[in-house]
Amino acid sequence: MEHEKEQISVAQICKVIDLLDSAMNDCLYVLDMRNDYYYISPKALTRFSVPSNAFHHVVENHAKFVYPDDIDPLQEDLRQLIAGEKDFHNMEYRWKDIKGNPVWINCRGRLVKGEDGRASYMVGCINEIGVKPKADNLSGLLGEASLQALLEEMQGEELHGFFMRLGIDGFKEINEKHGVEFGDMILQKTAKCISECLEPGQRLYRIVADEFAILDLFGGFEKQASAQYRRIRRRIDSFIEEMHYDVMYTISAGILDFQNVEHYNYPDLMRLSEFALNEAKRNGRNCDYRFRQNDYAKFIRKRELAKDLRKAVYNDYEGFEAYLQPLFANDGRLYGAEALMRFESERWGLVSPVEFIPILEETGLIIPVGKWMLHEALEICGRLRRWIPDFRISVNVSYVQVIKSDILKEIVAAVEEHGLLPENIIIEITESGLLETDNRFTRLWSKLKENGIWIALDDFGTGYSNFHYLYELRPDIIKIDRSFTAKAMENDYEYTLLSLMSGMIHKLNLKFCVEGIETREEHSRVKELFPDYSQGFYFGKPCPYSQFVGQFITNK
Ligand code: C2E
Ligand code: MG
Ligand code: MG
Repeated sequence: MEHEKEQISVAQICKVIDLLDSAMNDCLYVLDMRNDYYYISPKALTRFSVPSNAFHHVVENHAKFVYPDDIDPLQEDLRQLIAGEKDFHNMEYRWKDIKGNPVWINCRGRLVKGEDGRASYMVGCINEIGVKPKADNLSGLLGEASLQALLEEMQGEELHGFFMRLGIDGFKEINEKHGVEFGDMILQKTAKCISECLEPGQRLYRIVADEFAILDLFGGFEKQASAQYRRIRRRIDSFIEEMHYDVMYTISAGILDFQNVEHYNYPDLMRLSEFALNEAKRNGRNCDYRFRQNDYAKFIRKRELAKDLRKAVYNDYEGFEAYLQPLFANDGRLYGAEALMRFESERWGLVSPVEFIPILEETGLIIPVGKWMLHEALEICGRLRRWIPDFRISVNVSYVQVIKSDILKEIVAAVEEHGLLPENIIIEITESGLLETDNRFTRLWSKLKENGIWIALDDFGTGYSNFHYLYELRPDIIKIDRSFTAKAMENDYEYTLLSLMSGMIHKLNLKFCVEGIETREEHSRVKELFPDYSQGFYFGKPCPYSQFVGQFITNK
């Protein structure tokens, strides 16, 4: 073809490349094969690790900016072009950015031949293929890259307004249930519902699959954002009604008032808004959440602590320890101890189980750690039986262990492995509605009983507290939570309630343990209720094994 013949010189092409540099995002280039020379749009220097935008010794220089694994296939393609085996170059491969990280590019080029028919130069274009879209054709909205460009342009300016990130709840299920096309339609309609609720000047973007963002740079406050969110929700509800309830879905929002975000930059904004939207979803979806630095700090602490707990588990449970708190029988005799978990590390100091047990539960780590704790507790019990043969150790078991592991088998095997009798161990389970309704709990309950292992119903009086199931489930011990004990010490009505409860528990022939006795006065008031067992700081705080032995056994 005529245009493949050399009509414009390489020098002229270089001039055109310079002229177009600021007019396009992609990079243009010319590879002069006769002079082994390469010229690329100057902007390439700000993105890729090319040695210069004009250089000789092209093949040798590839190592500087082409990702190592891709050099051979690239050079093979160039060889074919020079050898005249083909005249169009079209390759997707990786270049290195200025930090040396791989960036996927598509490089296309047209070979131009000289009068002699030999390859003279190749002229073409390089564009990144991994970049985020600037606009989304499905929703008709601008995309994340456009938002990023705008905010980066405004970097350093003080912003007044808000950023609201909206996410469709359970969008994956809509796609799964109704198909992707239907899902696309919902996205389009949702985008329309949101845009109908926009205030003048606000911008709407589609960020990722099922998420949208409203940017208000006109001084809107978070309260106004919440009101706008509610309008959006109502608009979506009417759309669902118009669809005759073919599909039911909700939307959540995370709101960032620029007043509450210090020194923002684009990645921070995305990170914080993602957190805010996730908080709304964690709070039960179909609601909005307004960003608070405090909540975020807690979230980060939790995430970091979770990481370190995981590391500790991996490092042979380093930092975990079983503390013991004494349990006394009504005749004043040391009856046993409750094993209470502790976690300590250089970074965190001593962390309360109230903080770390829920993290272990959420991450599932409670399964290995709970098992480790069971063995620790039983090992300790074995040692303490040298002094008190019928010593009983109380071990707390989490609902996650019941639901997600074969805890029964583990308990029975551990009792045997440590040479103990079933009557040396008490399993403490926190009261909850699950105890009656979930068959994993009822099965564990009846099997423990079959094996002669006692069960204590922990934290009684805090939550579910269904008297009916005391009769149905017949726990061996009912442990009155210390918040209930504290109330009973201050309030006559609560004291009467506790006293009636004690009577009822004894009528059912069950045992009754009062937790949280802190002073001599409390102890004498509680004694009038005839508890079978007492526990509290007044008798002893949870402490390590050696201290426990010194304080309650050898030094009595
Ligand atoms: P819990 O099982 O109800 O344990 C009793 C808690 O009350 C312990 O808190 C104990 O230190 C505290 N306590 C006892 N007497 C007094 C008192 O007189 N005054 C006050 N203020 N507190 C008293 P701790 O050790 O912080 O444990 C908190 C909770 O963490 C436990 O409540 C239990 O639900 C959970 N936990 C602890 N260790 C384990 C474990 O190994 N496994 C599981 N699943 N949960 C555990
Ligand atoms: Mg307990
Ligand atoms: Mg308790």
